[in-house]
Amino acid sequence: MKIYRFRYRKRILTGILKEEFLFPIVGSVFGDFKIGASPVPISEVRVLPPVLPTKVIGIGRNYRDHAQELGNPVPEEPLIFLKPSTAVIGHLDRIVHPAMASRVDYEGEVAVVIKKKARGLGDDAPVSDFILGYACFNDVTARDLQKKDVQFTRAKSFDTFAALGPCVATGLDPAALHLKTFLNGKLVQTGNTANLIFSIPSLVRFLSRVMTLNPGDVIATGTPAGIGPMTPGDRVDVQVEGIGVLSNTYARSSDKEET
Ligand code: MG
Repeated sequence: MKIYRFRYRKRILTGILKEEFLFPIVGSVFGDFKIGASPVPISEVRVLPPVLPTKVIGIGRNYRDHAQELGNPVPEEPLIFLKPSTAVIGHLDRIVHPAMASRVDYEGEVAVVIKKKARGLGDDAPVSDFILGYACFNDVTARDLQKKDVQFTRAKSFDTFAALGPCVATGLDPAALHLKTFLNGKLVQTGNTANLIFSIPSLVRFLSRVMTLNPGDVIATGTPAGIGPMTPGDRVDVQVEGIGVLSNTYARSSDKEET
């Protein structure tokens, strides 16, 4: 099942995609819902971020090849950081270049979306009940500021630096999600969650012992090798098998939005 949030005729709706149509739901995707009977063609909606997280938790260096490309050791525990909810954008939204940064990188990732409140999960706790599904994610990073600052907050937190979407896909195997990132149509990253240093279930358990995970919260599970800078005008597509493609352009704030 693919869950979309979207705007249609000035209303914000959540719906399930069937072929080229979105069927608005009645209720909540985090609880009980019914699928309505009046579908809307997806071509007529504006796709929004599929959820509104209270927080986005990023995982650093969770693929061995990416840790190596930046000359970092492989961590012994998950290396975590936060991205603010104000950074979240959706499919086809623009990533805006911040004036104080000189190098801004794409990082294609698989995101986990939390379904129900999780706190203090034990090492063997089953996690599937706590996961709504998965989405594509671009963990946009001001690389020069990440190196300059002692920690990641500024580099990871600019508005538009957390691209999420286009939907949340349910029923996927978290140990076999295949990821590709394209820069202007050229393949630049490939990864598979089978190669994560810390698996998705172990991340959910670990993070739940650090902070309460709320419905709609997002975990960006880390990026494989092949990260690189974007130039205004570039388009980045993050594709995850079974989910779809998250597509965003990179622009200066003064650039006119394409329609
Ligand atoms: Mg990242």
